[in-house]
Amino acid sequence: MSLIDDALSANATIATDNDPDRERPPAPKIAIVTCADPRLSGILGVLGLNEADVDMIRNVGTVIDEDSIRSLVISTRVLGTTEIMIINHDGCGMTVFTDDELQDRLRHETGAWPIAPARFYSFTDTEQNTREQMQKARSHPWISADVPVRGFVYDLASRRLTEVFPVDATVAAP
Ligand SMILES: [Zn+2]
Repeated sequence: MSLIDDALSANATIATDNDPDRERPPAPKIAIVTCADPRLSGILGVLGLNEADVDMIRNVGTVIDEDSIRSLVISTRVLGTTEIMIINHDGCGMTVFTDDELQDRLRHETGAWPIAPARFYSFTDTEQNTREQMQKARSHPWISADVPVRGFVYDLASRRLTEVFPVDATVAAP
């Protein structure tokens, strides 16, 4: 039996009451973008935040890509969240290979050269990567300048956050 089958039978046993309150539209106050890594699944517990207040946006590697931008625009413009927190973490799986290495491996294993995904967003410097994700969110024209975008690195062992501050953008000479 697979874990999916286990989950299905557990669901039938566990979910036995019916509460229409659960259908009320959400009204989160903050959007958090973080990694899909299971070690971050309990992070709200160490942030002292209520689940209902948080629009949790997760993907592998804490990437601000087209899809997380889509979620952030909906979160801030439709759901009404007023702050964005980007939480990267140490020991992320996206630091153990490069995009080129993984692409080469997959092409070799499958013999296929698909055009997507164009990038896996692997990285080496967690703090610098966090800064880049912050800049991508901050500079998106549909994310209001009134909404603070702050970035952090979460230390898995201590469960402490360290804030990452943006570096002043340097203007390239024409
Ligand atoms: Zn990760």
